[in-house]
Amino acid sequence: MIIGILGGGQLARMLALAGHPLGLQFIMLDPSEDACAGVVADQIQGRYNDIAKLELLAQKADVVTYEFENIPAAAVEFLAKKVPVYPPLLALTTAQDRLYEKKLFRKLDICTPAFVPINNLEELQRALKEISYPAILKTRTQGYDGKGQAILRRNADLTTAWEHLNGVPAIVEDFIPFDREISIIAARNHSGEIKCYPVTENVHHAGILHFSKALKNDSAQHQAADYVKRLLNHLDYVGIITLELFQVGDQLLANEFAPRVHNSGHWTQNGAIIDQFENHLRAILDLPLGSTDSSDYAAMINLISTVPSREKILQQTHANLHLYGKEERTGRKLGHINICTSDEATFNKEIGALQNIVNSG
Ligand code: AMP
Repeated sequence: MIIGILGGGQLARMLALAGHPLGLQFIMLDPSEDACAGVVADQIQGRYNDIAKLELLAQKADVVTYEFENIPAAAVEFLAKKVPVYPPLLALTTAQDRLYEKKLFRKLDICTPAFVPINNLEELQRALKEISYPAILKTRTQGYDGKGQAILRRNADLTTAWEHLNGVPAIVEDFIPFDREISIIAARNHSGEIKCYPVTENVHHAGILHFSKALKNDSAQHQAADYVKRLLNHLDYVGIITLELFQVGDQLLANEFAPRVHNSGHWTQNGAIIDQFENHLRAILDLPLGSTDSSDYAAMINLISTVPSREKILQQTHANLHLYGKEERTGRKLGHINICTSDEATFNKEIGALQNIVNSG
């Protein structure tokens, strides 16, 4: 059985690593010469809109999936006529456009920050009479890791922000003074079986995820799981989905969803019985989903821009190091460390030590 993947970055690499023990083989399409999944999957080097390359991928793969949501929807549409592709196209096109995404949240009664679609500066100025300051302006498409966003604090910010985003279609939404950011990762297979992982608390800096901690028996679990199930069933979804939420008091507000395995679920590699990568593969192959039960304490620290000494990291006896084989570059995700244990004191001690190592480079 050969799984095709659009994209050959670290998520594709970890999907392939999870699939090898199941006897699966992988082929990915990626434009770069040094795609980091290349050591564990065959590569077709080419652009996502290259019809000949897509044709080749469809010929070679039994089923196709994708590792990020900014691939052209037309590529998925083309492939889907020739080979099964999961998650479904509707999930991809909805997640690619913040306006469609927010409208879907509203339709499914999933609370989300107040928002207004914006097509020009006048509309932005008008919207700021409805949405109060501070607010956040986001491009409808192509935004990730905090890119394509501007915070609006006063009228004087509007022109600069609109120009900063190059005047592309956008939404403006309430800036939420959240207590914490969480995500919930869930899997659904063809047969409609659903499994949710424990919610994860996430810490971002400048829009990039730095730290995630899984929260067993968290008070937000029930509501978050209910929201994500509404999405999964409505989209007739197959695969892993990630729903990101803000929590204010005991209220949850959906920010966005990703139709794929997610950085905030990397802890599952060492902290859950079956991790998000394997459950994604099981879902798209319509195999029974594996248990999402997790260790008492599980967390993940991202390695961004530089990788500290391996020796120092591995001195922490619960540290599981995952490197992606990528060249160091500012702002680039190069790997992560998972820490999973049943002992709270060890957990906190090792996280503290690892964060010191990571922060001192
Ligand atoms: P996004 O690209 O929508 O995931 O946004 C990146 C990060 O910006 C989020 O993880 C939040 O930390 C922050 N952010 C986005 N939208 C809002 C909002 N409406 N209120 C407060 N912070 C936000």
